[in-house]
Amino acid sequence: MDATGEVISPVRRALYIASYGWAPGTQGAVEVPVADIAATGDGHSPLPGRVRGAAVLVDLASNLLSTNYVATRHLLARQLANARAAAMFIVSDKPDRMLYTSAFLIYPRGPLPIISIAKEDAAFLRRLLTHGPVTIRLDVQNSFSSGPVPERNVVADLVGSDPNEMVLLTAHFDSWDPAQGANDNGAEVATVLEAARILKLLKIRPRHTIRFVFFSGEEQSDLGSRAYVARHKQELDNIRAVLNSDAGVQAPLGFKLYGRTDLEVSTRKLLSPLAPLGADRVFTDADFDSDEESFMVVGVPAYSLAVEPEDYYARHHTIVDTFERVDPRMLSLHTAVLAAAGYTFANSEERPGRRLVPSEVKELLHRTGLEALYELDYPDAKPY
Ligand SMILES: [Zn+2]
Repeated sequence: MDATGEVISPVRRALYIASYGWAPGTQGAVEVPVADIAATGDGHSPLPGRVRGAAVLVDLASNLLSTNYVATRHLLARQLANARAAAMFIVSDKPDRMLYTSAFLIYPRGPLPIISIAKEDAAFLRRLLTHGPVTIRLDVQNSFSSGPVPERNVVADLVGSDPNEMVLLTAHFDSWDPAQGANDNGAEVATVLEAARILKLLKIRPRHTIRFVFFSGEEQSDLGSRAYVARHKQELDNIRAVLNSDAGVQAPLGFKLYGRTDLEVSTRKLLSPLAPLGADRVFTDADFDSDEESFMVVGVPAYSLAVEPEDYYARHHTIVDTFERVDPRMLSLHTAVLAAAGYTFANSEERPGRRLVPSEVKELLHRTGLEALYELDYPDAKPY
């Protein structure tokens, strides 16, 4: 994880990122001017000269399609660092004075300090800027370890009668520090774990193995699932499907297919037992959003549980992602959906589809508009 910041008045506690271990501790305060480039903050447009040495205010909406958001944030951070800006202030799009913590795609170290500021604080700075130059005192409060910190994924198998093939039920267990990470993603970890417990309790032996995988490091760009894919390379052809859950425990709707229209017909059939739970729909849109990405880019049929958005993005990565806001009825419903889907996918005679070869992955990324983000996200990879 990287650069963390705390900003003294008028902006409150800052967010940030870790790719390495981090700990609180004063790094020394600096005073810098503030510049506002809200209108040009897209990562491509030329930057005005006043960003040099300044803390730069940018507007980026975290609840837009995450693919656009993370790419823009990444490109703009790089652009600002090249222009010698002192810091990037991302105006939080959360309600009230809530800040937004995140790190995706900026790993292992941000190119400059990136700090979330509440929208009221940004409005205050902007009002001051209409009267003349503004200087702000930045006091970065986090420090980082000198190297990567080891993490572990947790894996358990419900062995099938023909264990040559498997279905993965997955959720990430890491989260951000402002709150408990209850809905992102503790609740889904609980439902996958509970699905495992119930299937075992019922002494169910599916035709093929159901593997329950809990990833770490998702928040730092799917580090756990990428490591899993690298380490289990020999098994990737044997994975029938990966069913990931990372969108919160709101009402389930069905599964996202990440552009794999070739899986649509078979998936509808596999999901038909989930109709009474309202979770039999199929969505073909694609995004780089969570650990399913690590499997999608190597051609494995990768799904995620689609849910009603409700107020998920208002609380996502904030101080109010807390346990009391998780609806226990939804935990039960998700558990039932995951247990049933895991069983159906593992027990069916036919696989939902095959693993794509690299040229087909390339075509999929192109068709779904994810090629540019793929290149940012995997600068060294040559999958095709
Ligand atoms: Zn998550």
